Parts: sequence; C-alpha cells; structure tokens
Amino acid sequence: MLNNPVYLDYNATTPVAVEVMQVMLPYFTEKFGNASSKTHAYGWVAAEAVDFARGQVAELIGATADEIIFTSGATEAINLAIKGVAEIYKKKGRHIIVAATEHKAVLDSVAWLASKGYKTSYISVGTDGRLDPGDIERAITSETILICMMAANNETGVIQPVEKIGEIAGNNGVLFLCDATQLFGKSRLTIYEMHADMLCLSAHKMYGPKGTGALYCRRKNPKVKLTALIHGGGQEKGLRSGTLNVPGIVGFGEACKLAATNWWDDAMKTSAHRTAFEQKIVDLGDVFINGSVKYRLPNTTNLLFRGISSSSLIRALPGLSFSAGSACSSLIPEPSHVLLAMGLSPADADCSVRFSLGRNTTEEEINFAIERVQKAVVMLRK
Ligand SMILES: *Cc1c(COP(=O)(O)O)cnc(C)c1O
Repeated sequence: MLNNPVYLDYNATTPVAVEVMQVMLPYFTEKFGNASSKTHAYGWVAAEAVDFARGQVAELIGATADEIIFTSGATEAINLAIKGVAEIYKKKGRHIIVAATEHKAVLDSVAWLASKGYKTSYISVGTDGRLDPGDIERAITSETILICMMAANNETGVIQPVEKIGEIAGNNGVLFLCDATQLFGKSRLTIYEMHADMLCLSAHKMYGPKGTGALYCRRKNPKVKLTALIHGGGQEKGLRSGTLNVPGIVGFGEACKLAATNWWDDAMKTSAHRTAFEQKIVDLGDVFINGSVKYRLPNTTNLLFRGISSSSLIRALPGLSFSAGSACSSLIPEPSHVLLAMGLSPADADCSVRFSLGRNTTEEEINFAIERVQKAVVMLRK
C-alpha cells in the first residue's frame, strides 16, 4: 500500500518512531509527575526518566549528561546559545561569525543582536554550498566571541567542514556553536571530532516528537557560560526555566538511542533511493543538482528544474509531499537565501525544490515519485 501523498519532506519533520511513541505513552498518563516535584514518588519517577533521557542524548553526541540543556527545539537552543553568549561575553567583544547559509534561527538571532550594536560577519559559500575554513580564520578579530556553523544544511543537505572550523575556533579562543539538527540520524560525529563548544539538536528531525530539543553546552576546557532567556523556576540549572516536557524528553532520548543504532542502515537505504531518484530525474535534461554531491547528507536532493517554477511543480504533483527550500520560509514567496548564497540566480532559485527521504521511504514510493515527476516535467514543458 502506497501512502497518499508520498512523503518526501523528512528534512522538514519526521514521523515519531513507534518505539519512541511507546516509551512516551506512560508519561502522559500514570507517570505524569512534574520532574521538579521533590517531595513525592510522582516527581521522582519523572525526574529519573528525564535523567535517563539526558544520558541517551549525551551519549549520541559524545557529551556528558550534565552538558545537556533540554529546550523546546533547535530554534530555542540556537537563541539561547547565541543570545546567551552575546550577553555574557560582551565585555570580550561583540563580533559573531556565521555562514550565509545558516538556518533562519541563526540569521535572525544575529540580526536581532545587530540591532543592539553587535557586528556580524557573513561567510560566503562556493557554488557547491561549502565554505572555505580559511575565510573563517581571516574573519576572526580580537572582538570575535562566537562562530555559528551548521553541520549539514536543511535545504541542500550540504555538509560543512565543521571539524576544521571547530579547530580554528578553538585555536583562536572563540566559541563554536554547531547547528547539528540535520546531521544526527543520517550521519554521525562526536563533539570531540567537531570541537564544538555548543551544539543543538531537535527531536522531530530524528523520529522523535515535536517541541523537544537540546543544547549541548561544554562544561570544561573551556567551560561555556550562558545567560538564560527564560526565567522562572530555575529548571535546567537556571538556564531554561519552565516545567520539563517529560514525555517529549523521554521520546527524544529514545530517538537518540535509535539514531545511534540505525543511522548507518538508514543512510545506506536512503542514499540508494535518493541516487536512483536523482539519476532518473536529472536524465530528463535541464535538471541540475544544487550543492556538493560529495559532501552531502544521504537523504537529501535539491534539484533545479530550469524553467519550471517550484510552485508550478508542487501544484502539478499533489501525490508527492516535498518543498521549495525550507519549511520555515516556504510560505514567504522569496527565493531561498541558501541557494542565492551559492550563486544561483533568483530565477534558478525559484525553480529549485527539495526532496528529502527517510527511514520509512520505500522503493515503491520512489518508483512512484520518479514516474510522477517525469510526467509533470514533460507536461509543464509543453
Ligand atoms: C529544523 C531546523 C532547525 C529548527 O529546529 P526546530 O526544532 O524545529 O526549532 C534549526 N536548524 C536546522 C538546520 C533545522 O533543520
């Protein structure tokens, strides 16, 4: 049985894995306690479950449990990291370095800081979507406090040389925030390999529930200091007040465990499907792959259908769920900032779409997608 429509937008969000949902369920009903309730068993049970999940998240990235701060998702983790560092390190300097292709959560956070007098250097990327670590090194000044760089781009799947960037940051005494939201579950790196001082994750991008994520924040060599964005009950060492989302956190922990065991199989399967799909579609002619094909997530393909606008392609394919650029900006009829930064013309950027595959994608679905896209392209080119 084919799902209708066929879902090819796993970079926007993923379904919750059955295993994840099962471990979450008791925490909605009989184990509903507030993890901050210290006086009774309901609270202890919830707190224990949160501790366990904290260990699972830490293990995936090679951190220790006390370095994990639970948030509502990657957007909140990014805001906490960028604004938290900017506030506490402002005596050292007010300069931040980011890639031009970062997620809006990063770009809009630094834009907000710019309105408060901070300076930002935007590092450009090549036509393959990758940046030159040398450009980062050259952008560092005595005022620089933070470098923000994503591990893998949500729109193109392009993987940045984060290991090198982390090394440069460390050698220059600048903190490094890595947005690893798209990486885990599809590939794998530890914070040691990345030399990350901070790193963000989101459960719903890796078969966990929406509304849960985490910020890893290094505890030693160096210890990263942050100021809180949200004040109140003092949860998460005072860095993120508010009653913990216990079912979400429990599910996130399980999703991390599954990512660690399944990522290789998932990567092999999705890359085989992705390659089959991509080759057949590129064979249509006047279709081009956006971004590096060498340094890329195994599940993502961003394709330029020259002369066919993304909106007309999407309209011609009601049987397929995919997107033009990112989910966050696809309501705004603006060409993708990621593709523009890679040197695409606004017209070509407007004719580009993203297909992202996942753990549940089947060969049958891919064959269906190939056939539908082929037909739609022939029809739209007439
Ligand atoms: C989805 C995504 C985010 C935002 O994550 P949320 O948990 O949905 O807030 C940030 N960065 C990247 C690269 C993403 O793909």
